Amino acid sequence: MPLHIIAEANRCYNCKNPQCQQGCPVHTPIPQIIQLFKENRLMEAGKILFENNPLSAVCALICDHEKQCAGHCIRGRKDTPVHFSSIEHYISDMYLDRMDVPPRTWVKLHKVAVIGAGPAGITAAIELARRGYRVTIFEWHSKIGGILQYGIPEFRLSKGYLERYRERLEAMDIQLRLNTTVGSVIMIDDLMRDGYSAVFIGTGAEKPRRLGVPGESLGNVYFSLNYLANPRGIRLGETVAVIGAGNAAMDVARTALRYGSRRVTMYAKADRVAASANEVSYAQLDGAELETGMQIQAINESGPVFKRAIRDESGAIVGYDDKLIQVRADATVIAVSQVPRHKLVHTTDGLELTENGLLAVDDNYMTTRPGVFGAGDVITGAKTVVHAVEGAKRAAAAIDRYLSAL
Ligand SMILES: Cc1cc2nc3c(=O)[nH]c(=O)nc-3n(C[C@H](O)[C@H](O)[C@H](O)COP(=O)(O)OP(=O)(O)OC[C@H]3O[C@@H](n4cnc5c(N)ncnc54)[C@H](O)[C@@H]3O)c2cc1C
Ligand code: SF4
Repeated sequence: MPLHIIAEANRCYNCKNPQCQQGCPVHTPIPQIIQLFKENRLMEAGKILFENNPLSAVCALICDHEKQCAGHCIRGRKDTPVHFSSIEHYISDMYLDRMDVPPRTWVKLHKVAVIGAGPAGITAAIELARRGYRVTIFEWHSKIGGILQYGIPEFRLSKGYLERYRERLEAMDIQLRLNTTVGSVIMIDDLMRDGYSAVFIGTGAEKPRRLGVPGESLGNVYFSLNYLANPRGIRLGETVAVIGAGNAAMDVARTALRYGSRRVTMYAKADRVAASANEVSYAQLDGAELETGMQIQAINESGPVFKRAIRDESGAIVGYDDKLIQVRADATVIAVSQVPRHKLVHTTDGLELTENGLLAVDDNYMTTRPGVFGAGDVITGAKTVVHAVEGAKRAAAAIDRYLSAL
């Protein structure tokens, strides 16, 4: 019995104006959940968590809590914040298996197609099924989860969670069409023709962003998501250079060290890194090094080539030296974020992109094509699971309003 979680719950002040809740992008009712937990009413707490955030069990493990709930907890001002995520994990992990799912709850005539089984698609499907719609998810891969399945490593998020989610989706009578890319053989027009009254696009941002320097196509150079999707199948060698310092770079570095690489260094252009402080600490704990102020110029068979930052007296970067520095590495992994693929936009009349190359939606998450909605990374650019959940919840509510008015 994890007594420390009970002790953690007892530390909560049950604030009237809970800052932790404000700090959570989906406004999880944290004091209420902690109170239920203390009264041993776990199933009630689990239901509230799941209905507010179907991916609560995942978010409890991989959200950036130091920036969100824990980062806003009033106790953190003078002491250590309440670590709600451990309590949430305990409740949601149990609820995922024990929850009661009444099958065949369709009460509405309309069918909705969800494209993509990542966090956004899973959330939208559950929200719509709960409102009584018949939902089919179309997923390009053979397994659900999106980046949770093919990006985030097992040591951070067990794939077993995604298998349990698949079982829950099936129990809710949500149909899963795996290994099916919409925009290739099946088009959005086919979905409309076949009676889907609305379409939700949650296709994410999984196309690696390029550096735009020579060498990206060499045989010992990889993009982060290509490596993370199959680290066992790619031998990086003893010395690895990772270009970038975001969450993906940390995952690459930590994975490479677990798969036999000895020296892994992440190179960042600026001093401020995109990854959370926790992720940087864990990567360093695992043995990865971080070098900032390194501007990539090219990659060759020997490794990446950089220009080093010139700093003023305070240490701030004021430019980059002209001298080129060759770093020796057996493999170089490029991890400088991802962008959406445009397959659906190119194959569907009426869908448009924003100036930034994201799927364009209005305030109701409807795209420029009536009846077609979108949320998650495909509209925000590479962000986080909880932000994909937040957007998908709003989009599902908007689809409900749209279909109710038909
Ligand atoms: C390496 C890495 C680590 C990360 N770590 C964290 C973390 O610790 N915490 C956190 O909160 N966030 C993290 N993120 C970000 C998070 O994973 C994403 O923000 C989130 O997965 C976005 O969800 P999504 O549903 O919009 O897209 P995705 O997860 O990308 O899912 C999109 C799905 O759509 C499918 N698809 C795409 N096109 C089609 C098509 N045409 N037809 C059918 N299916 C299609 C894809 O196969 C995929 O399954 C990380 C991202 C990366 C890359
Ligand atoms: S801010 Fe901290 S102490 Fe207050 S309710 Fe939230 S978790 Fe409890």
